[in-house]
Amino acid sequence: MSDELTCDILVVGGGLIGTALALGLEHQGWDVILVESATADELTRVPPPAQVPDDFEPRVSALSLASQSLLGDLGAWPLDGGRVCDYQRMVVWDGEGTGRIEFDAADLQVSALGAIVENRLVISALMQRVQASKLRLLDGATVTGWWEQPDGGRGIELSDGRRIQAALTVAADGARSKLRQWAGVPSREWDYQQQAIVCTVQTAQSHRHTAWQRFATTGPLAFLPLAGEDPQAGHFCSIVWSQDTAEARRLMALPDDDFRQALGEAIEQQLGPVEAVSRRHAFPLRQCHAKQYSRPGLVLVGDAAHAIHPLAGQGANLGYSDVRVLLEELARARDSGLAPDDHLTLARYERRRKGENLAMMAAMEGFKTLFAQEALPLRWLRNTGMRWLDGAAPLKNRLAAQAMGLGV
Ligand SMILES: Cc1cc2nc3c(=O)[nH]c(=O)nc-3n(C[C@H](O)[C@H](O)[C@H](O)COP(=O)(O)OP(=O)(O)OC[C@H]3O[C@@H](n4cnc5c(N)ncnc54)[C@H](O)[C@@H]3O)c2cc1C
Repeated sequence: MSDELTCDILVVGGGLIGTALALGLEHQGWDVILVESATADELTRVPPPAQVPDDFEPRVSALSLASQSLLGDLGAWPLDGGRVCDYQRMVVWDGEGTGRIEFDAADLQVSALGAIVENRLVISALMQRVQASKLRLLDGATVTGWWEQPDGGRGIELSDGRRIQAALTVAADGARSKLRQWAGVPSREWDYQQQAIVCTVQTAQSHRHTAWQRFATTGPLAFLPLAGEDPQAGHFCSIVWSQDTAEARRLMALPDDDFRQALGEAIEQQLGPVEAVSRRHAFPLRQCHAKQYSRPGLVLVGDAAHAIHPLAGQGANLGYSDVRVLLEELARARDSGLAPDDHLTLARYERRRKGENLAMMAAMEGFKTLFAQEALPLRWLRNTGMRWLDGAAPLKNRLAAQAMGLGV
């Protein structure tokens, strides 16, 4: 057996983004290999029925309507099993002032602003489509290096010694992308000196299909509504609580009862007492942006290109926008008889995506800085600004439509 495989396009990373891209490329007729270090069995394992907080996966995404539409085109949406929570309202308020903004699906004449779903359910649906497709999946396989030859041949090496040569390699290997580093793509990174505490909670009152987000100088707290299979089983939310590292460590070390209490107070008991919490996880918060999205034979998508602060839950949506645009550009290349690593094709992808990604990262940075300020004039400004925006329906609706990926 030869220890070198070849293909048109190699996708490294079978997360939310890489799996979707690989499927879309296969639909276009490219010869595709997808490499993922987890096994397909792990990724398609059926989760337990959601009856207690620990039955949910901690990592969830707020999928915009545009992301749902892309997944629908790939045959991976809607999800079977009903464990998806559409949310009709989003309430954002300043915990240390009077500013408050509410977004309502009815104002935008849509049935929901988006859907909260556990990442593993989306990956599982995509992986099942991959297994039913012609694309070659190398699961349980880890990429350990990138190689280039003087004749222009390029590709990757696997931990078992096999090599894969591809005209185009896609780095979809996440925020700490090794492929980006091996291929020498420079990036700008900064550490917020904060951690996001993520877990699932059960609350006394219903979440009312609302995404709740409270800002405080120490960091934002989000309660994102979740759906169990049995609507009578309880009211569940996924929480993302960003705090300075020392405070996050203190909160992580609290006994469950004290943590429930602290959480209920931090969200101002909007959903009544927090009755139960799952195991807590803490992620260091860093933002990272690749200075280039492509170089000869390599292109970056998803978190490998841009990992953003999770405060607005836009990470997966930005990644799915990358997928949509790269699929459009590669379809165009294929129709014109061009190779997938055509320089102009990749340059167009980068040009179309960088602006939106940068704007979102700058907005997250601005939000975080504005809400970290205790100075009175800035607090006045943000509270007045929020109240003004809440009353300015056309602008507010336009912002919400953009966040939903409606391209208004
Ligand atoms: C705390 C937190 C909360 C978040 N909340 C939200 C939210 O509410 N909404 C939202 O839209 N986004 C959210 N995000 C961001 C979102 O999770 C990411 O943007 C998204 O998962 C990125 O997907 P990805 O496929 O690019 O990368 P990843 O999900 O990191 O996937 C990378 C894949 O590559 C594989 N891989 C890595 N290296 C190798 C290798 N060497 N060989 C083979 N395989 C490899 C990994 O196993 C993995 O499967 C959050 C992120 C964090 C940290």
